[in-house]
Amino acid sequence: MRLGSWLLLLVLSGFGVSAGAAKIENIRIWPAPDHTRLVFDVTQPVTYELISLSNPDRLVIDIDRSLLSTSVAKLDLSKSPVRAIRSSQRSDNKLRLVLDLAYKVSHNVFALAPNSSYGHRLVVDLSNYRQTKTPTKGAVIKPAQPQTTILNSLDLLDSQRDIIIAIDAGHGGEDPGALGPKFSGRKLREKHVVLGIAKELQTLIKREPGFEPLLTRSGDYYISLRRRTKKARKANADLFISIHADAFKNSKAKGASVWILSSRGASSEMGRWLAQTENDADLIGGIGGVSLEDKEEDLAKTLLDMSMNYSQTTGQGVA
Ligand SMILES: [Zn+2]
Repeated sequence: MRLGSWLLLLVLSGFGVSAGAAKIENIRIWPAPDHTRLVFDVTQPVTYELISLSNPDRLVIDIDRSLLSTSVAKLDLSKSPVRAIRSSQRSDNKLRLVLDLAYKVSHNVFALAPNSSYGHRLVVDLSNYRQTKTPTKGAVIKPAQPQTTILNSLDLLDSQRDIIIAIDAGHGGEDPGALGPKFSGRKLREKHVVLGIAKELQTLIKREPGFEPLLTRSGDYYISLRRRTKKARKANADLFISIHADAFKNSKAKGASVWILSSRGASSEMGRWLAQTENDADLIGGIGGVSLEDKEEDLAKTLLDMSMNYSQTTGQGVA
């Protein structure tokens, strides 16, 4: 009789934790040069709480009504500021994840909606750099000499410097882009194809005297569309080439299409569709961002708009 009651209690308590709880079924890591992205696949949207602790530095994520049903041991954390990930199931049905950090870093945690490759996700972006000071609330961010950036581009013909070509491999990380036919059991992904093309183009441009290539993305990680152009502007790039490999329902389709900047917005049905698809990449790949930089979005947008006329004329010439 005593054994019977004990068994019943065990079943009931087990049921209490898992009924309606979200399961974390898989964890991925995307190391980028300046940040690390950890992605947790969850079976349903989750709510969570963050606690940042010092001595030693840790980031604690308490996820409500959740269970961990995968192992954290398989992750290669070597290129990240994370030394170890620990997990514990708390009595209040919360799953506690503890990221042991090598040093204090800024973080950004957010949820991502399902896309063609993944379901609901919880994303943890960590800067790879040591956080020196906590940003003060209401701090004024000074614009970084906006005039200089534009003038350098306009003065291009007079200057003796190399022509800088920004090569942007579309998509990356959580955003696979278009999916192609299967190769050794896995569908060919646009993000890999375009990175290959971008690196090849980088080699070709490097060979040309007077030209200098700049990759906006050099590995398999996602950066927002705005950050890609910001990176190019920061380096005073003269030309921005974004590379994509579209999929089409008819496998006989061949050829390439070139799209250039237009002040009237997308001027054709196809153009509108393409712009929408590519702009949606930020929703798919997850903008995230881990620094104050993102608060400068308005400034960056203004800069881009101010120099759009110049970009447009040059773009048409190159195309
Ligand atoms: Zn694309």
